[in-house]
Amino acid sequence: MSKLPCKVIEDLCPLYVDDVCSDESKNIIEEHILECENCKAKLYAMRQNLSINPPIIKENITEKKLFKKVKRIWIISMVIVLIFSSFLFIFLSGHTPELFQEGNPLPYTKSFIQLIGFKDYVNITTVGESTNGQIRFLTRKDDHKDFFNYIEKEYQMKYRSQMGAGYIFENDTSSMVLVSETYMKFYTIFKVGTVH
Ligand SMILES: [Zn+2]
Repeated sequence: MSKLPCKVIEDLCPLYVDDVCSDESKNIIEEHILECENCKAKLYAMRQNLSINPPIIKENITEKKLFKKVKRIWIISMVIVLIFSSFLFIFLSGHTPELFQEGNPLPYTKSFIQLIGFKDYVNITTVGESTNGQIRFLTRKDDHKDFFNYIEKEYQMKYRSQMGAGYIFENDTSSMVLVSETYMKFYTIFKVGTVH
């Protein structure tokens, strides 16, 4: 059989490596590489690549998957942040004058963010600087139950009665008044009056 040109063998090599060529082609290649070091080396290199490549491809796939997952999580969290901040922005811009009703709005803003999130009442004094050192609390409007329970425990007093905007707490020796004020339509500020 006449020797085939190396170019033809080179074309057949991938089929040989993948084991998809005919027996005839196989024989031709095997005979050829017995005599041709060049093609033998190429075939050998192709085989090496085949055994090295699959794990690399696999790794790439898992890396890609992980990257996709991270990307998805990132996008979802950005969307949540965006939705939340737009709500907050709409809410705040609709209430600008009331926002400044108590002076510095920052402690109040921080407080109602906590309130929206997970709390029944927030001590504004602990969130930001208080005005005149007076202790103030923020609650949702008409939702004072948990807050009053907290006050009763904290000050060792019982809630007695309401007088207008004032809520009176007492024990055997003293009394105090919580003065309430509506804040931003949906919230109430309670100012802790002096204990007598
Ligand atoms: Zn050759």
